[in-house]
Amino acid sequence: MPMVALTFDDGPYIRATIPILDTLKEHNSVATFFVLGNRVPRHKEIVKRIVHEGNEIGNHSYNHKQLTTLSSKELKEQIDKTQETIIEVVGSAPKIMRPTYGSYNNRLKSQVKMPMILWSIDTEDWKYRDAEKISKHILENVKDGDIILMHDMYISTAEAVEIIVPALINRGFNWLL
Ligand code: ZN
Repeated sequence: MPMVALTFDDGPYIRATIPILDTLKEHNSVATFFVLGNRVPRHKEIVKRIVHEGNEIGNHSYNHKQLTTLSSKELKEQIDKTQETIIEVVGSAPKIMRPTYGSYNNRLKSQVKMPMILWSIDTEDWKYRDAEKISKHILENVKDGDIILMHDMYISTAEAVEIIVPALINRGFNWLL
């Protein structure tokens, strides 16, 4: 069975994360949310829902700093503060991390004690803000094992998810976490 991972960065946002969770739930599907630590305290209920509905939560830094430019101390803060805010809300720590801008170096790799997850399909949803374009790009390019990058910031992305989830299920894809 072909597998694909849906991943959402930079959230949570009420306008996008909630409808995305609704669509996933409706289709018995799961995804990974790489959240920003500073957004967690004001969206505790969404973060709980992400975890309670079987989705994965990942660390995407505290406030989206370019991590490769930080001192070791600042980097540690970005990662640890995010882990702590998430633990406070859901009782367990993220086990995966996605570096901001997908950029990393050896220091980041050695200092972050979690697997760093990048992506293989970049939807550029932040640029297009167009559900049809985003879903078309995914459905025309997706193959077994892909990791799809989206952002749960935009209503257009949430609309694209409504299109692609049932379409990928129809093609026989299973969800990779
Ligand atoms: Zn990001």
